[in-house]
Amino acid sequence: MTFSENIARLRPSATVAVSTLARKLAAEGRDIINLGAGEPDFDTPEWVSAAAIDGIRAGRTRYTPSAGLPELRTAAARYMTAGTAYPADGARVVVSAGAKQSLFNACFCLFGPGDEVLIGSPYWTSYPEMVTLARAEPVPVAGSENLDFLLTPEDLDGVATPRTRGLILSTPSNPTGAVYSKDQLGAIAGWAREHGVTLISDEIYQEIHFGDEGGKAPGALDLDPETVGDLVVTNGMSKAYAMTGWRVGFSYTTPELASKMSAFQSHVSLNAATPSQVAALEALTRSDDAARDKARMLAAFRRRRDLVARLFDELLPGCPYILPGGAFYLYFRVDGAFNDKLTCANDVCARILEESGVAIVPGEAFGDTRFARMSTASSDEEIEAGVRRMAAVLGG
Ligand code: PMP
Ligand code: GLU
Repeated sequence: MTFSENIARLRPSATVAVSTLARKLAAEGRDIINLGAGEPDFDTPEWVSAAAIDGIRAGRTRYTPSAGLPELRTAAARYMTAGTAYPADGARVVVSAGAKQSLFNACFCLFGPGDEVLIGSPYWTSYPEMVTLARAEPVPVAGSENLDFLLTPEDLDGVATPRTRGLILSTPSNPTGAVYSKDQLGAIAGWAREHGVTLISDEIYQEIHFGDEGGKAPGALDLDPETVGDLVVTNGMSKAYAMTGWRVGFSYTTPELASKMSAFQSHVSLNAATPSQVAALEALTRSDDAARDKARMLAAFRRRRDLVARLFDELLPGCPYILPGGAFYLYFRVDGAFNDKLTCANDVCARILEESGVAIVPGEAFGDTRFARMSTASSDEEIEAGVRRMAAVLGG
């Protein structure tokens, strides 16, 4: 069988692959600590699951409109624009099977052959693949390491060409946990507007934010709309609501692009699963219960961030890391362990898995072979045991 050019360069998701391998090894009886894919270890709040079960019993088991249940589109618009100057208009939202599909919809509808798309590096592993699937060219661009790789307009000036059509970034970042301030994001959005480039701001970790002032991380919708050009913001239920398996994400953009994305989705998957949409609607509208449960999970993510930083300071001084301001990852250097046999992060992570049973994701997945990423969305005990085992392999 021959395959189409569309997938000539396609590679499976490395973050998903690490976790799949870890589960397989554990099923074979190996003692594995899986710090691979980032997925909250909490169960979905019971009252959210109950809403879906009630919905199924009440017959909410049929197709919905492609862009999602109208009341969910409105609730998502309110969720994303609360406290901002952007309109809480459901016509700007498309509900998809996870933010992953929202991002793919956006890439496919916006970019095509001959287009270049800048990608803030280190990047979430799926962005370059999505751009490539749209037959456009991904162009990774790294900020400076002293700024935790956050981009500045000067970084973008160095790589933009007349073919640059888009810029994708995540804040808080996966994999680094770095968070753009409102001013930093404003400078990037201003640059994008000036250059006629569509900004895709992936804000799925917006509520997993450790800022002293509390509250969500700054997002592109917090900016003055007059100063922002073409924009797509993506978010979803997976992380802050511990709803990864439900597959509900959403995008916020202009009504025109939203209707293109909806038309595209109508041919691909049609709609996010209806019971999942019912659950998401409950989660977004029962504010008091949601606030309580999100605060509980956020407190755990913050405690684990502090724990992992303390453990690294103590046990792995040879592995400098970026102190995360949000999300639930630690991104750290492993190039101190390079030698004749271990020449890249892939080698180091394979050695760690082999010798200590700890699964982490090599930096190749995020565009930098000097680094590795561990998830901190596991129990405190697993995190502590995982770091201790890694230190035994890497030798502190
Ligand atoms: N963006 C980033 C940066 C992520 O880490 C993830 C996690 N899978 C997603 C988007 C997509 O999340 P989901 O499809 O579960 O909504
Ligand atoms: N987003 C998570 C991660 O980066 C889950 C896996 C994935 O979809 O990439 O690990």
